[in-house]
Amino acid sequence: MKLARFIGSGRETLGLIRGNEVVDLIAAGLPFNSMHEIIVAGEEGLALVRAHAGSPAHSLDTVRLLPPIERPGKYLAIGLNYRAHRGEIKEIDPPSPGQQRWFNKQTSCIVGPSDFIEPGVSEQLDYEVELGVVIGRAAKRVSAGDALDHVFGYFVANDVSARDWQFHSPTVTMGKSFDTHGPIGPWIVTADEIPDPQDLRLRALVNGEIRQEAHTSEMIFGVADQIAYLSTAFTLEPGDLIATGTPAGVGFAMSPPRFLGSGDVVRCEIDGIGAIENRVR
Ligand code: MG
Repeated sequence: MKLARFIGSGRETLGLIRGNEVVDLIAAGLPFNSMHEIIVAGEEGLALVRAHAGSPAHSLDTVRLLPPIERPGKYLAIGLNYRAHRGEIKEIDPPSPGQQRWFNKQTSCIVGPSDFIEPGVSEQLDYEVELGVVIGRAAKRVSAGDALDHVFGYFVANDVSARDWQFHSPTVTMGKSFDTHGPIGPWIVTADEIPDPQDLRLRALVNGEIRQEAHTSEMIFGVADQIAYLSTAFTLEPGDLIATGTPAGVGFAMSPPRFLGSGDVVRCEIDGIGAIENRVR
């Protein structure tokens, strides 16, 4: 199933995508008021959503999609997780073998699949298409073998980066967390529809020109290894988000660099999930 949040009939509601339409689940009587509540309810929650699949729907053209989850507890992101991307970034020492390099995107940076990206004071605005993961059941010290059982679903992420601020401090949080620099969506595809998260093709386009194109099998650490590693240190809770790394082709690594400017449109796509498209202003 594809689960969304949207503005329909002038108010925020939860949606189930049905072809080119979106069912208004709250108007249909679903006993939940947030995506977080659906996630926490697990299989029972999904069964209730499924039971409302035939309810009245809006055309997708007529609604505004919101970020598919309300403010999550955590938004974690891994750096340098595709070999070709690691090769194109010369400015950063690569992680030691076997170690994963993690940072936080502050959750206040999250915006919807068609919202504006604002550069703020940055003059080096860049894009990063990534497979996004939503945690379902809490994960604490889970093995890689069990990790995918803790995934609720997947989405498309743009890990927008202010490169001129990214290296002010070793954590890179400053340059990764400007307001509006976390577009996600367009919806959450539940995990049952993505049998293998390492078998997805993803790409980023700027004004229609393909800048990044890769396959999730090219990740150095797959989704299961990422969840196992993170959950060794702290609990991943229902609704927490993970951005799983970006492939080669970021503007920062081009010679000369090609940063985003006002009016540019960034489209991030993952086959089998969908696309988000955000304009810079
Ligand atoms: Mg990234």
